[in-house]
Amino acid sequence: MAGSVPGVSELVADARRVFGQVFGGEAPPVAVCAPGRVNLIGEHTDYNQGFVLPMALPLVTVVVGSQTSGQDVSIVTATEDADEPRRVDFSLAGDGSALSPGLPRWANYVKGVLQHYRAPPVPGFRAVIASSVPLGGGLSSSASLEVAFYTFLQQLKPDDGDKVSKAVACQQAEHTHAGVPCGIMDQFVCVLGREGHALLIDCRSLQASLVPLADPHLLILITNSNVKHSLSGSEYPSRRRQCEEAASVLGRDSLRDATMEELDEARGRLDEATYRRARHVIAEIQRTLQAAEALKRGAYREFGKLMVESHNSLRDLYEVSCRELDELVSAAAEVEGVFGSRMTGGGFGGCTVTLLQAHAIDRTILHMQERYSGTPTFYVTTPSAGARALTLS
Ligand code: ADP
Ligand code: MG
Repeated sequence: MAGSVPGVSELVADARRVFGQVFGGEAPPVAVCAPGRVNLIGEHTDYNQGFVLPMALPLVTVVVGSQTSGQDVSIVTATEDADEPRRVDFSLAGDGSALSPGLPRWANYVKGVLQHYRAPPVPGFRAVIASSVPLGGGLSSSASLEVAFYTFLQQLKPDDGDKVSKAVACQQAEHTHAGVPCGIMDQFVCVLGREGHALLIDCRSLQASLVPLADPHLLILITNSNVKHSLSGSEYPSRRRQCEEAASVLGRDSLRDATMEELDEARGRLDEATYRRARHVIAEIQRTLQAAEALKRGAYREFGKLMVESHNSLRDLYEVSCRELDELVSAAAEVEGVFGSRMTGGGFGGCTVTLLQAHAIDRTILHMQERYSGTPTFYVTTPSAGARALTLS
């Protein structure tokens, strides 16, 4: 039913085995991991300086490795879905051009982190990456890789340990080296996530508060639609532009400061699509705050209702859903014991997230499988820990 995912220690063992095969010598002394993430609610609000409510996943990226005496770097990814070649070698000596983005694409995330690392220079090293976060599935394997790698560098040459700056450096890596103008959510929750908690992030002040989500009767089911429509690349920048346009017509720096009344007053000065985009964002920011409050009170039904409202708004107003995601969300909503379900991530494919009673998990998965026209992948999860160094036995 739900695919079984290797645990952290299994991934570490895999990575160490690959390290031995590729580099020989002694077992690498350093091991770290960083989680993937899922956003429970607050979609397309991060770049509008609003709130998001993600949690860290039990799916992780692991990096194992050891320092070398010179300035040479060798990195291998054991992940088969990464583009070839899966090994890169370069020197940290010289003018830094070795860190320029290039091919293979996966290495750019790592080079970006090296470029933005906050306690340069770092020594040479050998490292192997292994991961249980699906690549490109919307669970943020990219932030997971960046943050895992940053955490690895911290073991070789510690920085000041400031977690917010760490998340920002990893976000910078994604901007400059992967060319993805992402918000701060992914790296933030990857660094600051905590077991048994969701994380309410204020994307303007970069302040975050932990919201307990440790009820043993609850599960969070993530369903990968396993589709990715090509629209996602071009539509993201266009949504961002529309939000900026709406904020500017309202005389605000961002939609965070705008109210629905102001938006309605300005309706005549906005084109219809821009109006609808702004409507989603303004309502979604409020929904996210309400959802965090509901979670604190254990009001799961209310939380689930807000998830469904979020989905409908993303489908009808923000127009970033697709048939496959709508199918999965409708199917989940039909099952008794499900509190709510919505698309999560940028949209046009990727995953849905469903909050449900633990005892309903099997029938929910069965029903979604039956009702979905494609082939889904399921991950049964609970909120997990953020990035950390691992002690090797
Ligand atoms: P998402 O973050 O939703 O998984 P992205 O497109 O943002 O999707 O990032 C996926 C990319 O990140 C991959 O194509 C690959 O280049 C890189 N990546 C992530 N994890 C790994 C890994 N374990 N090994 C190599 N590359 C990885
Ligand atoms: Mg990503």
